Amino acid sequence: MDSVSSQKSIFSMIVDRDIPADVVWENERIIAFTDIAPKAPVHLLVVPKTAQYANVTELAAGDPALLAEVVAVAQLLADERTGGEYRLIFNTGEAVGQTVFHVHAHVMGGQLTEGSLGFE
Ligand code: 5GP
Repeated sequence: MDSVSSQKSIFSMIVDRDIPADVVWENERIIAFTDIAPKAPVHLLVVPKTAQYANVTELAAGDPALLAEVVAVAQLLADERTGGEYRLIFNTGEAVGQTVFHVHAHVMGGQLTEGSLGFE
């Protein structure tokens, strides 16, 4: 269960195969899949399987090696799909648009709008 609510997060449902997703990479600790509402030509989510951490600050404090692994997977997927260049976003807090409180990295690549954060 995540640290914000006692309900299973949507990403835990994907990890457990309760709901489908286009999974592009997976190991024991991490899953990566395409965002259901892409905001860039390539828009992947890299997600620790544990629901213990609601955001990147909690993950960095609780398991820095897992955070490093998330970044390594982001690079690996970008190497495969976007020529190795990408934008890495961790939304932290409702005010900036975080909607899923199970830590995840947005990996965005392709032609992004210059000057935007990729979400416009
Ligand atoms: P946040 O706004 O919390 O940083 O990002 C959550 C992301 O999860 C959003 O970009 C949203 O489109 C994506 N998302 C929400 N529900 C699902 C889902 O059921 N499947 C997939 N693949 N992505 C989802």
